[in-house]
Amino acid sequence: MSRRGEVWLLSPHCDDIAYSLAGRLLSGAERGQHVRLLTIFSQSRFAPYAPTLRSQAQISRWRQAEEARFCDALHLAHECLDLAEAPLRGYPDVDSLFIADGATPEDPELERLEQRLRQRLEQARPARVYAPLGVGGHIDHLLTRRAAQRVFAAICPLLFYEDLPYAGELSAHALAQQLAHTAQGLRPLLTPLADWLPEKLRHLAGYASQVAEKDLAAVATHAHSIGGERVWTLG
Ligand SMILES: [Zn+2]
Repeated sequence: MSRRGEVWLLSPHCDDIAYSLAGRLLSGAERGQHVRLLTIFSQSRFAPYAPTLRSQAQISRWRQAEEARFCDALHLAHECLDLAEAPLRGYPDVDSLFIADGATPEDPELERLEQRLRQRLEQARPARVYAPLGVGGHIDHLLTRRAAQRVFAAICPLLFYEDLPYAGELSAHALAQQLAHTAQGLRPLLTPLADWLPEKLRHLAGYASQVAEKDLAAVATHAHSIGGERVWTLG
């Protein structure tokens, strides 16, 4: 059994932790802990702002390198589970990636992901785990949340982060409606707005293959609208 007591950050894709938890990390909320980022669907063909990259192998490698630089900068341990993101699993278009009612659909990948996380548990047990809340309804985010609940709920505390940039693209009313569903029974923990925001935006801009100005604007809008960055937890 290797080291116990790490904090695990479950990131469906290369970028989700930078989007949704960088403020909490930069503000020192997990200071003194060993923090490990696990990128789950790290096989990808999505790199809209890096047109010279063509193959799945090239794009996955490039995006994983962006993630690795972020982890180095924030002193996070990092590993990729190397599952294929939804468009590589037969989801035909962008609309099919987002589930309007937020209910986790049938997808055989859920079982594979649970299996991977249980295998990971055989090596070490986390002290707590962060997973996406599922705002925006991206299928891979919903699967990650469901798998996290099934695998870790009986083992350690779970915290759920508000998914950006999606949460920042919603009106305040639409976000409140989604939270009424996704955060039902949970209480919020706010990382108050501070000088971590420009630093977070700078780190996010490092994901240049996939993050554009409009995405940075959505993150800033959300931070100003809720007064910081937010996670949700039980009790
Ligand atoms: Zn994502």
